[in-house]
Amino acid sequence: MEVNNKLVETLAYVNEKSLFYKQLFKEHHIDIQAIKTAADLAKLPTVSKVDLQKRNEDFYCIKNGEIADIVTTSGTLGNPVTVPLSKNDLERLALNESNSFITAGVTSDDIIQLMVTLDMRFMAGLAYFLGVQRLGATSLRMGPGSPVAQLENIEKFNPTVLIGVPSFIAKIVDYAEQNNIDINTTSVRKIICIGDAIRDENLELNSIGKRIKSVWNVELHSTYASTEMATAFTECQAGRGGHFQDDLLIVEIVDDNGNPLPNGSMGEVCITTLGVEGMPLVRFRTGDMAFVIDEPCSCGNPSFRLSPIIGRKEQMIKLKGTTIYPSGIIDVINDCPDITNFYIEVFSDELGVDKVRVIVGSDGNSNPCIDSLAENFKNKIRVVPEIIVQSNIQVISNLNKHKGRKPKVFFDLRAGHKF
Ligand SMILES: [Zn+2]
Repeated sequence: MEVNNKLVETLAYVNEKSLFYKQLFKEHHIDIQAIKTAADLAKLPTVSKVDLQKRNEDFYCIKNGEIADIVTTSGTLGNPVTVPLSKNDLERLALNESNSFITAGVTSDDIIQLMVTLDMRFMAGLAYFLGVQRLGATSLRMGPGSPVAQLENIEKFNPTVLIGVPSFIAKIVDYAEQNNIDINTTSVRKIICIGDAIRDENLELNSIGKRIKSVWNVELHSTYASTEMATAFTECQAGRGGHFQDDLLIVEIVDDNGNPLPNGSMGEVCITTLGVEGMPLVRFRTGDMAFVIDEPCSCGNPSFRLSPIIGRKEQMIKLKGTTIYPSGIIDVINDCPDITNFYIEVFSDELGVDKVRVIVGSDGNSNPCIDSLAENFKNKIRVVPEIIVQSNIQVISNLNKHKGRKPKVFFDLRAGHKF
């Protein structure tokens, strides 16, 4: 394997500037001079989100006067982490998003409606805005506001590209349908979907992706990124996984012990950032489960691709010997238009074996797709969880007991798991 100069530079940099890595390398008697290629990274220990939460500031490599922007993670998965960005980090973010846009076939002629939060110290909105500017395209900063406002904005300013969360795009589709608005006559030709996957592990559109495509004749591109890695994986027109940006990030797929897995095997996404100044990360375990696709892409881009994120590592369920994730269960349920209220419980039986219970709400009428739910589970995820049908009122009432900031449908009751 070729020497990766950017990796060599990154290791020297964190060894000098980051208290955390300096101590980690010392503790493990690591000679960083011996690590020159991506494959050599396996000699280093991995770093977890908990390390980052506990010792956040020890990861910083820049001082107060050098910080251009302060970002924090959303904190949906535990305590938020603060990430200081230098001026060069902002430029790196711009390059990363501009590259992503090019991968998705976006050009400087495009008008891009950003339906993401640009403030609140979030990174995503900022990164997209900077990327649009670097590409030389036009931005429309709408934020994640109401479907009506988005549609009005589309009518007025004729954007060609939208960026937003798939569930929100589906809301726009619903609104347009309910109000007899033909969204296919709008200027939009492409949507970049962030946050949640639009494809399953076979790279086929999942229920939400299908829902959008069934009404709206647009190109859908998925993009996966996180604040910690400050890099995005974006799908080209082929939609066969998100292309790597080798200059900005090294990706490994690792097992429970941090050992790299071969391409094609499902494991945890472990990243090493390249060229980051504020808070570079070396062998950071993201908690996201995916696999690497190395077969050539029809678009001609030679980079490897990352599959859709199949789930979070801590949410992995072993049901009757088969590994599944909540997203797979939810996808089967979402395929049934009669189910509007549901939730999922995972618990351990007396032998410590995972059990899954799916509680779906019914309006009391005959619902063919609820009747065929067990069969659909069998066909799509190969195993059938316990299915309990209750009245919609009962399901809503159960869910209201757990009202939080975000609506929740997955409840992990296993010992040692966060509720
Ligand atoms: Zn491609």
